[in-house]
Parts: sequence; C-alpha cells; structure tokens
Amino acid sequence: MKIVYQNVIWLLSFAAYTYMSLAEDEKPAVDIVAFFHEEDNQAKLAFETAVSNFDIMDSPVEYVPRIEVTSESDSLEHYNTFCNLVKAGKVGSIISPTSPKVAPIIESLCVNLEIPVLQVHWRASPLMNNSMTINFYPDQKLLSQGIGVVVRNLQWRSVVIFYEGTENLIRIQEILKIQNYDASSKSNSVILKQLGPGPDYRSALKQIQNKTEYRIVLDCKTENVLNILHQAKELNLLDKKYSYFITTLDAHTLNFSVLNTEANITTVRIINPENSVFQNIVTRWKMRANVDLDAYSVKTETALMYDAVSTFMNSFRNNYVTTPIETEVLNCNENIKQWKHGLQLATFMKAYDSRNMLSMTAPIEFNSYGKRTNFTLHVIEGNREKVTAVWHPSNGDYLHFLQSAEDRNKEMEERWSNGTVVVASILGPPYLMLAPKHEILQGNARYQGFSMDLIAELARRLKIKFEFEVLASGARGVYNKETKSWNGLILEVLERRAELAICDLTITPERREVVDFSAPFMRLGISILYKKAEPKEANMYAFLDPLSIDLWIYSATLYLAITVVLFFISRVSPADWENPHPCDQEPEELENIWNMKNCLWLTLGSIMNQGCDILPKGLASRMTAAMWWFFTIIVTNSYMANLAAFLTNERSQGSINSAEDLSKQTKVKYGTMEGGSTQGFFRESNYSTFERMWTQMEQARPSVFEKSNDLGVARVQNAKNRGYAFLMESATLEYQIYTKCDLIQVGGTLDSKSYGIAMPLDYPHRSRINEALLQMGESGFINKIKDKWWKEERDEPLCTAGAEEGPSNKLALQNVGGVFLVLAVGVALAYIVAICEFLWNVRNVSVEEHISFMEALKIELKFALNFKVTKKRVKPQVSESSSDSGESRSMARSIIHGAGSFLHLDILGRHDTPGGSSRHTSRHSSRPLD
Ligand code: GLU
Repeated sequence: MKIVYQNVIWLLSFAAYTYMSLAEDEKPAVDIVAFFHEEDNQAKLAFETAVSNFDIMDSPVEYVPRIEVTSESDSLEHYNTFCNLVKAGKVGSIISPTSPKVAPIIESLCVNLEIPVLQVHWRASPLMNNSMTINFYPDQKLLSQGIGVVVRNLQWRSVVIFYEGTENLIRIQEILKIQNYDASSKSNSVILKQLGPGPDYRSALKQIQNKTEYRIVLDCKTENVLNILHQAKELNLLDKKYSYFITTLDAHTLNFSVLNTEANITTVRIINPENSVFQNIVTRWKMRANVDLDAYSVKTETALMYDAVSTFMNSFRNNYVTTPIETEVLNCNENIKQWKHGLQLATFMKAYDSRNMLSMTAPIEFNSYGKRTNFTLHVIEGNREKVTAVWHPSNGDYLHFLQSAEDRNKEMEERWSNGTVVVASILGPPYLMLAPKHEILQGNARYQGFSMDLIAELARRLKIKFEFEVLASGARGVYNKETKSWNGLILEVLERRAELAICDLTITPERREVVDFSAPFMRLGISILYKKAEPKEANMYAFLDPLSIDLWIYSATLYLAITVVLFFISRVSPADWENPHPCDQEPEELENIWNMKNCLWLTLGSIMNQGCDILPKGLASRMTAAMWWFFTIIVTNSYMANLAAFLTNERSQGSINSAEDLSKQTKVKYGTMEGGSTQGFFRESNYSTFERMWTQMEQARPSVFEKSNDLGVARVQNAKNRGYAFLMESATLEYQIYTKCDLIQVGGTLDSKSYGIAMPLDYPHRSRINEALLQMGESGFINKIKDKWWKEERDEPLCTAGAEEGPSNKLALQNVGGVFLVLAVGVALAYIVAICEFLWNVRNVSVEEHISFMEALKIELKFALNFKVTKKRVKPQVSESSSDSGESRSMARSIIHGAGSFLHLDILGRHDTPGGSSRHTSRHSSRPLD
C-alpha cells in the first residue's frame, strides 16, 4: 500500500515536472556519459531513470544521459568517442567502462581534461591516486577486510579457497591471514586452489574430493557460481557437511534452490533489497521500462550506477547554488585546457553527504582519493532474505549480528535437535561393549557401557537424538606422516561421517590440531601393568639365608678354632693363673679357669652378643677375645642387616618398581598398545628415560606392541616368569586390576592427560556439550557411571582387599619355623644334658655315700621334685637300710666305673686317691661352671 502511495506521488511529481519544464525557459544541458560494452539493459535502465527522475522541480540544468556502447578492447574507439563527446562541450561527467583494457584510457583522458570520472565496478588495479576518479564500488582493501571478518566470525580455522583469476586474490587476501602457514601442521589451514578457465571446473574441485576440507570460499564471477556449484554437487562436494562462502556481491541474484542442497551457503552483498527506498527505486524502473523486475535481481553495479549518477547530479546542483557551473568545449589534443569546474565538482562529490539523496547502496562516503570508504556489508546465510549480520568499515574486526546470541543459539539448537547426531566409537570394555542378546537388538540397544551412558545422559540434557556407529578397525586415531592422513575415530570426525567420537580417546595436542575436544570427562596417566610376584614357598630355614653356607661353615670352624686358640693362650698366659682363694695371700696352687668348657662359653657368648660373666685376664688371651669380638660384631651385624633385607625382599614385588627400573633392565620386556596415544607418548618423548624405553620397545623382537589393551593385559598374565609389563592408561588399568587379581599397577603415573569427546573443528555445539559435561561432572553422574562400569557391572568377582595387597606384610610361622626348631632342639639337648648331669650326680652320691644307685636316684629325685625345698645339704641324708646295702653299692660302683673308663674320666680314681682332688670338697660349688 505504502509503495503504491509513493508511486502515485512520484507520478504526480513527474507530471508536474514535465508540465513546468515545458513552461520554463530552456535550461543548459549537461551530458552524463556512460560507456557500456554490451546491452546491459538493467544498468542502462538505472542510468536513464536516475537522470530522468532527478529533482525535476528544481534543476538548474538539464541532465542528458548519453549511452555509448563500445567494444571491450578497442582503445582507439574509446579515445575517438570520448574526444568527440568533449568537443561538443556538454560533458559534465563520465561513467567509466567496465573493461580493464579500455577503462584506463577514458580515465586518464578525464584526468587530463579534469572531467569527473565515476567508476561503478570492482577494479583490481586502480588508477594511480588522482583527484578526478570517484569509485562507487567499495574500496578493495576495505571489502577484503570485511570478507576476512566474516570468515573469522564463521569461525573457520581452515578453508579451501577456490579463486578464478590472480587479481581476485586481492579481494580474499584477508582470508589468507586467518592462519599462519605452517608446512608441518597437520591441520590444513588455508589452501588456495585456482579454478581454471572453465566452464569445466571439475579437475580443480576434485582436488578436495576425499579430503577433510569442508569449508570452501568461492571467489569467482557471479555468472559462474551456479555452474561451479552444480559441478561440485556432481562430485559430492555439496552435501550437508560442506559450507560455502561466496564472495561475489551479486550472489543474491542467484537462485540456489535449483541446487537442491543441504550445504551451508553464506553470501555477502552491499545492497539491501528489503529496504523500502531500494524497492521504490526498483518500482520506478519497472514502471519506466514496463518490465518485471525483482529487487533481488538488481545487480550491485546497477545500484551503484544509480547512486553514482544521483550523487553527481545532487553535487552539481548544490555546487551550482554557489558557483554556476558551465560545461566547456574541450580538446583531447590540447593538454593545457582543462574544464575549470571539473576539479571543484569532483571534490564536492567526494564530500557530498549522501544522506540527502535517495540511495540504493547507502551509506556512501569517499576519501580524498575517491575511494569508497563507507558501505554496509550484509551477511546472508541460506535463504537470501535472511541477513544474519552486517559489517561497516568503521566496525573494524567486529561483525554485528542481527540476532542476539541467545536467539542464534536457540535456532542452532532447534536445527540440531531435528536431526540425529552420529556418534562414532569402538568396542572395548568398559567403555562400549555388546549388550546381552545384542544379535536380536537394534540400534543403540545393541551396546552398553560407560560411553553409552555418558552420551545418553548428554543427549537427554541437550535434547538431541543420537546413534552409535561402531568402527570395526578399533583404531582411535593416529596420524600417518607418509600418507599425511589420519585413521580411526579421528578420521570419522574429520570426514564428517560422525559428529562426535567417544571411547577412551585421549586428548593429545596432535589430535587437537585437526579436531576439537569437549571438556575432559576423565583424568588419567600412563602406568605400568605387571604381574604380581608368585608367593614363595615358605622356607623354615630362611634365617640361614642371610649368610652363605660357606660363611656359616667358616664361622663355625672359626668358632671352634678360636676356642682352642683361647684355651692354649690362656694356659700359657701367666695372668690367667689365679689364686683360687684370694684370702690366702700365699696359695700353694694357682688355678686356671680357662678350661675348654669355659673357652667355648666365652666364644659362644660373644657371637651371640650376650657376653660372659668370666673374662680372660692375660694380655694375649684378652687380645684373642677382642679380635673375636671384632669379628663377631661384624658378622652378626651383617647377618642382621641381611636378614632384614631378605625378609623385605620376600614381601616386595621384585626389582620392577617404576618406569626407571624397567628402562634399566632387559629381562622384563615391556610394550604399549599399537596406534594409541601411549605409544605416541613414548615415540615423541624427549625425556631420556622414556627415549631409552622407546628404543628398547622398538628394537624388541618379537614385537612388544599389542593390538588392543585386552591383548596387552592377557600377555602380562601369560608371560613366563613375569617377563612382560604393559604400559597403559591408568583408568583402563584400574578396570583390569579390579577383577584380575594376579595383576598390579607398578608405581604411579608417568604423565597426566584426559579423555574427551572429539568433534569437528569449530563445532557450533561445543560449548553446550561442555556445559552439560561440567554439570554431569559436578552432579556426580560421571563418577556414578564410572563406579557402575568399573565395579558393579562386572561378571567376575572383585578382588578382595588381601588379594589386592599381594603377599602379606606379616611374617608367618613358616618363615621363622627354623628358629623355633633350633630352640626346641637346643632345649631338648639341654634336657638330655641335665638328665646326664643328674644321673652323674646320683652316681657320685651313691659311690660316696655307699648306697645303691637306685637308692641315690630315689633320694635325689625325691629331693629335686620337692619344689618347696630350696636348700640342700652338701651330703645327702641316707637312711640306714640304704647305707647297708653293700651289694647295691658295689653294683653302682661297677656301673660308674665302666662308664668312667668308657668316657676316659678318672672318676673313681679321683675319689679313691686320697688328696687327689682335695679342692673338690663339694660338688655344689658356688661357681656353677667350675
Ligand atoms: N587412549 C588411547 C588413545 O586414545 C588408547 C590407549 C593407549 O594408547 O594406551 O589413543
């Protein structure tokens, strides 16, 4: 309605103007000349309408639109045409031709004659800065900056740029700056590909077929865009996972719906066909030419043509108010004569405030060189009516989104929830396993495990549908330097076969170059899985182990030898002959206490660290004792120390307690999972221990690498003599040792890293996933499902605490049984000795008291067993009947005699010989050992 109303007003004004102009005197004519190379009806229409519609009520001059249709390359034709025009003396301004071959001729002639020259097209190489040229097309530097800002805001970190001609590189130079080129980088950053002359662009497009590049910048002529996209579609380069950014400012004139594509297409333009001023102007064109013209089919250059002519006419009129401007007859060959108003008019145009006129590409501003410094770059995503953001040169690096971030997120969420997110994974407990009866199940129900629970909860929170795709290769993702390609889950994400990838997928710097990762959901480090030491058979005589057999024999021999040496030395040492009765100052006899028995006691007491209550007094014997003590102190202490070490060793898991231990030996082989981040860790490490380990692993034959964690674990279990250790990630290791009680984790972790969910670079839903994961972590959900899959949902029973600890720390009876045995045997021997001594005493009593042996035995036994009696007579009380028993006495005597002769003891003789043993008056001496 509004448009109809405006048109009516416009028609009335037009009629009034016609009427008034007929009535008025004739006004001076000013030619506005436009060079066209072909029948560009739209541009001509714009040109003519702009002139004829101009302020008919109040125009000081009559503007005459002159159209010159010329060839694209004939310079002479242009020269002659131009010169003839200026000779007529009516030219007020020139619209430069579009062909770069002939435009410079016209422009330089204009500069020479000082006629304002207006450009409305993209110029790769502008004329040298001059004061007569005014280019309405956005300045190439600023346009390039705007295009760069758009790409950066699309958050494309890697792109392929298809361009047509080298001159176009100027327009896309800012895109080239989004990532510094790094030849060694695994991500593809910015790749430039020239399209070639066309119309067959397939060979260029094929270069990205089967590659992981899905972000494409297309910089080409508008008329080639659809053809290129059609060919891209044939090559499967136009499906859902692809995003295109088309740099031409006329993309709005194209109908992308014919492509029937799900690819994301982003375009830019400097006009806004939705704008009412724009639409009004187009309506006028339609009415003038009686054509069906859609606002979206208006090309940028057409709109610029309109604005250029309008700006000229408005400037002319405004300038005319102060200085009446007259056109002049000019001559191309007379370089001296220039149009006297030309420079003034051009300067005025550059400074003209375009807000005072109806413009199709407002805002319009120029710098002193006539370069356009102000315009609005509209960013359109998908539907051409949908402007999502705008950029002005004054914005710098800021792209102004027309929707709030919230609305954009909401829209993105809606689009996300309408589809099904494909989640790539691999089978491996406890992350993803086949569910019971999986053969008869469908879809996600076929799988279970930690990853499934995590993604299910994530999907619930994000309100999305998901589908697990299991990768048969079981590869997580490793980069092959030769083929320069990835495999496994990382490739799935790179090639967009899956949006997300989850398993025990470690976040590594290498992988992060090509895919994004969510916030970590589990932390871990590399650790060593090893087999527990087999419990050794208990050795009763383990107390003998600290000293070798040889040493035991040497020590025992030495003990006896020293005893003998001491015995002899003390016999020859005068100081060891002592007065037996210290009260008797002049004893007749001296006594030497160092008989063999005492010598044995002293040396034994020393070796047992118990000492002895009698000690030698002679210098030599003391020296001998001291040296023996020195010997025993060393031997016994060494024994003690060794004993402690032996017992500790018994309880420890052997010599492998850390990675350092592993690296320093060759007996126990060790390896990692093939193609995993653990292998990568050792391969890339610069730390000497890990470098050494990597060299050993690489050189080991047969290979120490295993295809999967499960195979590695089985190899540890089956290795003979604990001959293999497996380096794996602590989270999975923990899972294994919960039920495999013969395995242990040796040492701590060698590094620290995390598992995350992989997704394509710049994945738009990454922050939402992160937020949900953080909430799941904080609420304890992740810990809960970890406990569930690590401990609760296990088929095998969990190891008991004792089994987990390994061999007990306590010493068992079996370990020290030998000591008990020694004690028992020693005590038994002591008993036997005691019995012998007792019997010997009984024999003596019977002999001395002339009683039978049995009688003496009875008396002594009775006395010994009477525990209340603590005092004993020197001579036993013998009953009469007993003492008379001469027969039995003689019998006892004969037995003892026999025993004495057998033992070579002078038992009876000593008794029979008067005074032979005068000092042994009593058998119950106060000195027990004498
Ligand atoms: N989590 C590892 C990866 O993502 C696999 C297991 C390992 O290397 O120990 O590659």
